[in-house]
Amino acid sequence: MDYEKKFQNALEQLHREGRYRVFTDIVRHKGDFPAATFHDDGMTRPVTVWCSNDYLGMGQDSVVLDAMHEALETAGAGAGGTRNISGTTHYHVELEHELADLHNKQAALLFTSGYVANQAVLSVLPKMGILGRCEIFSDENNHASMIEGIRHSSALKHIWRHNDMDHLESLLKASDPDAAKIVAFESVYSMDGDIAPVGDICRLAHRYGALTYLDEVHAVGLYGHRGGGIAERDGVLEQVDIIEGTLAKAYGVMGGYIAASERLVDVIRSYAPGFIFTTSLAPVLVAGALASVRHLKQSSRKRTQHTERVRRLKYLLETESLPLMDSPSHIVPLWVGNPVACKQASDDLLREHAVYVQPINYPTVPRGTERLRLTPNPNHTDQHMDQLVHALKSVWRHRRLDRRRVA
Ligand code: PLP
Repeated sequence: MDYEKKFQNALEQLHREGRYRVFTDIVRHKGDFPAATFHDDGMTRPVTVWCSNDYLGMGQDSVVLDAMHEALETAGAGAGGTRNISGTTHYHVELEHELADLHNKQAALLFTSGYVANQAVLSVLPKMGILGRCEIFSDENNHASMIEGIRHSSALKHIWRHNDMDHLESLLKASDPDAAKIVAFESVYSMDGDIAPVGDICRLAHRYGALTYLDEVHAVGLYGHRGGGIAERDGVLEQVDIIEGTLAKAYGVMGGYIAASERLVDVIRSYAPGFIFTTSLAPVLVAGALASVRHLKQSSRKRTQHTERVRRLKYLLETESLPLMDSPSHIVPLWVGNPVACKQASDDLLREHAVYVQPINYPTVPRGTERLRLTPNPNHTDQHMDQLVHALKSVWRHRRLDRRRVA
């Protein structure tokens, strides 16, 4: 068997479809983000980053960095074990308390990433004979990590049309009244930037006796007066049974978690292989995340600056008739609608204008809906925005890209 030939064919397929992924090799400048150095075939060039999920710039905040330095000096580099075997440090314990409090839940549990949290919980909860017969209801736009978790569970799966309450209700109505049920969805959808009616979905789910599982990965730290996410902003925290979040985006570090009842968390802690059989997060990461969560709980300054920056960028793009997609959140997608054009636009921005925005192609978004996803940050100045808009106009003109959003 010619394995190399098979690998080559698989890669050629991606090239043909214009969606072969090229990683942009950068080093961010601490204290000067969104400035970064682009490493390009042995050359280096300064660029401005416009696609980071470090939404608030906490990854370079002195509150976070000081805590990480201190933990490094105190506890050294790695955790040295799984949570069960020497890998539970006091930093882990404190962060779990802080996260439980953030979401008004009895308990929280850390995972090595948000992806692992979703995958571990959604595969195990319905699988282990814990809930008995179980049906899962999943929004069609749910993240790959939730889909993977659900796929590996033994539950009966139902996909409901994105944010469509009537469809969800019809599926719930038709389900087995005696089966356990889980309704799984996100608050802020990361590629379109739209926001789910969290309270309404939870009320509906509870009417049919379902547990609610909410991914707040793109909302924690950003929404709610303590950064508790959309559920906090909308005053419906108590209606969400399981909240899942990340420490890698607005909190600027790394790691994932869930917050829920003490018993549910204990079940996951005791049964989920994705939690049990892996080395726990390094203390230095946990200390940084702890400082970040605490800071954003008591200060809304960055959230306020962030909201203002997002509003300004949307205003500028609209004024220049660039194809801004509707988004009520901090995520600012610009429609391209073709994978090759999307990659070309991104390359032109990087090489000719020192603006770094990664192209977003299938399978991250459906084919034909390719886009550039901009994520303004409190550290983007008016000057950065003017530079970006000038560059976008030039690329749109030069590549003859459509200024209308064609859905
Ligand atoms: N959930 C959603 C909706 C995401 O967009 C992502 C990552 O982008 C994750 C979960 C995974 O989080 P993490 O990056 O911490 O693994």
